[in-house]
Amino acid sequence: MSPKTVAKPGAAAAKKPAAKKPVKRKPQDPNKQWANYLRRYRPGLTPFVLDGLEERYGRQEWHRTMDPVSEIILTILTQNTADTNAEKAYEALRRAYPSNLAPEVHTPGIGWGGTGLPDAAPPDWTLVEHAQLPELIDVIRPGGLAPQKAPRLQATLRRIREERGSYNLEFLGDMPPLEARDWLTSIDGIGKKTASIVLAFCFGAPVMAVDRHVERVSKRLGLIPEKATADQAHDMYLELVEPERMYAAHVLLIHHGRAICHAQRPEHDICPVRDRCRMVSAKAP
Ligand code: SF4
Repeated sequence: MSPKTVAKPGAAAAKKPAAKKPVKRKPQDPNKQWANYLRRYRPGLTPFVLDGLEERYGRQEWHRTMDPVSEIILTILTQNTADTNAEKAYEALRRAYPSNLAPEVHTPGIGWGGTGLPDAAPPDWTLVEHAQLPELIDVIRPGGLAPQKAPRLQATLRRIREERGSYNLEFLGDMPPLEARDWLTSIDGIGKKTASIVLAFCFGAPVMAVDRHVERVSKRLGLIPEKATADQAHDMYLELVEPERMYAAHVLLIHHGRAICHAQRPEHDICPVRDRCRMVSAKAP
């Protein structure tokens, strides 16, 4: 029988190899993941769509259409209603609360679904903010959803005045776009869509506003996944479109949704991007 090996007192015990820590993988950003998927399996889809729409509807250059405070109020008025109704409500504000400010010239281009506002001074924002709520509701009633929108208009104007000392949002143009979007969405009733419209149209910021037209067209083409919410689509687009084409992408997609890719009976036959549309063929490249 072999003698037992006895460890010498004081001798170091043999070290067990340290258990390997599991490597924690950073979860991949789902927006980047989707952009990579499209790049791999449907290469060139985004430029194909934007080039095709641009050829049909013309090149879209950014130009400011309104002052940012007017833009945010007009955009709130468009929420869940047609742009033509928002125009009626905005004009009613101008009449009910006139100001001595310089006339604003509304030059909306093809991204706008109304006829454009006549040249006139913007409303007096102090009067709008401090109006009696029932009165303000009556004034903007022609635009629809007045009981929800009137308090939203006042809360927005109050927040701007309290934080900035006046009704002025020009400071947003000096902020990084996503920080500016966060600032706006921290106001009750302002979501990514409204915030992105203000930033894109007033400052040419590379953020995407996804309304129902943009969402519908994008899902049919397969630019964004069917299951993505509009909220998610706002951020997906930041990975899909080059910043310098973001404004044009919004305007072209929204216009295409109104002109050809209607919710009911889209006109595939005359569509400039049908060759790569997943609604026309599930195997479209
Ligand atoms: S092919 Fe039809 S569904 Fe596809 S984008 Fe064009 S109009 Fe819309």
